[in-house]
Amino acid sequence: MRIDVLTLFPQLFEAPFSFGIFKRAIDRGLVSIKIHNIRDYAHDKHKTVDDYPYGGGPGMVLKPEPIFEAVEAIKADILAKDKVSEPPVILLTPQGRLFSQQMAQELAKQSHLILLCGHYEGVDERVREYLVTDEISIGDYVLTGGELPALVVIDAVVRLLPGVLGSEESPRDDSHVSGLLEYPQYTRPAEYRGWAVPEVLLSGNHAQIAKWRREQVIRRTLERRPDLLKKTNLCLEERQLVERLKREPNLDKESGE
Ligand code: SAM
Repeated sequence: MRIDVLTLFPQLFEAPFSFGIFKRAIDRGLVSIKIHNIRDYAHDKHKTVDDYPYGGGPGMVLKPEPIFEAVEAIKADILAKDKVSEPPVILLTPQGRLFSQQMAQELAKQSHLILLCGHYEGVDERVREYLVTDEISIGDYVLTGGELPALVVIDAVVRLLPGVLGSEESPRDDSHVSGLLEYPQYTRPAEYRGWAVPEVLLSGNHAQIAKWRREQVIRRTLERRPDLLKKTNLCLEERQLVERLKREPNLDKESGE
């Protein structure tokens, strides 16, 4: 996969890709991440990339010309190297579709992604209307720029690419992959400050462990995110478990639903 990012602050992307899983994935050629400074596509001598909003109001708006030219140059480079269809151009914006594991899975199937980070008051609306193919929000709050959201999207997508995670880091059981939350995890020591690890996990009985984990997945999701349970297909036995758990007086209902 090749990911191109357009930003006013390329330095913000240096550290995250210099360590651990991402560095390994880049070094092994599983993903290539190219960071482009939007300012390099400004024509005037002051490298102007923003201007005052028409109609007045606070803040500055990113101008369309450097963004259109940057995306067109990146697309031309991609198409010259690979015979692929047009890559998606994704704007990070608090007004976009709410990012999810399912969206990460969809994006991980693409061979190229172009991510556009806004700043200040955002980007000129014509960028959104005529250049961008998708808009993603990482949550219902406003950040200063699209760089952290772009890193969130890249992280969630790249870890799903084949070969990026070792088998010991497999995403199969992760929360949200199957639509539910993951079971609790424990490691050594078996007892710490008098708090013991559940016996079943020490039993070596894999069938019992799998059963316990599945029950924990359902209990945990019911306690914290009952909305997720409603969207998931459970078997009869699991539905009965949900009903049983709901009747438990000490079910730890954190979500308030
Ligand atoms: N005035 C814009 C609005 O109300 O929709 C917000 C602009 S925000 C201060 C600046 C930039 O940060 C946005 O253009 C976007 O790229 C990014 N951004 C902020 N919050 C975001 C979020 N929740 N998800 C994705 N991008 C976000």
